[in-house]
Amino acid sequence: MGECIFCRIAKGELPCYKLYEDDNTMALLDIFPVHPGHALVMPKKHTTDIFDTDEETARQMIAAAKKIAPAVMKATKADGINIGMNNREAAGQEVFHAHLHVIPRYKDDGLKAWHKNLFKDEKQKQEVHEAVKRELAA
Ligand code: 5GP
Ligand code: ZN
Repeated sequence: MGECIFCRIAKGELPCYKLYEDDNTMALLDIFPVHPGHALVMPKKHTTDIFDTDEETARQMIAAAKKIAPAVMKATKADGINIGMNNREAAGQEVFHAHLHVIPRYKDDGLKAWHKNLFKDEKQKQEVHEAVKRELAA
């Protein structure tokens, strides 16, 4: 994946506003932030999304996000922080190198990540509950 933009950033081939790095992860400012301080946490080694990211790498990403979230929160005087991950194009993923978003949020900033409570049918809840549990047991 020589052309992967985040691999190139991780190798220092492309510039970024780096916030943090350790042996396995790097955190940097998002180039098109939702709010100033919007950060990305990525593994230095290439994985595509949650599905091909091994557990240890996922732990390292969460540990780095946990480290930078309070710093972003204080530095930006945010009221809250969203931590999220887009996986696959349908979920809004645009850069196909796994990463977490760490996004400062403010009271009444008007951002809505998603609409809730669209599906109220109990039978549908029971069916999806069973279907996911079947997959977990497979
Ligand atoms: P995704 O939609 O894949 O979850 O998020 C990708 C994020 O990466 C976007 O928020 C986008 O603004 C950011 N981004 C894309 N290209 C670059 C880049 O070259 N440098 C930095 N710092 N962020 C980038
Ligand atoms: Zn990559």
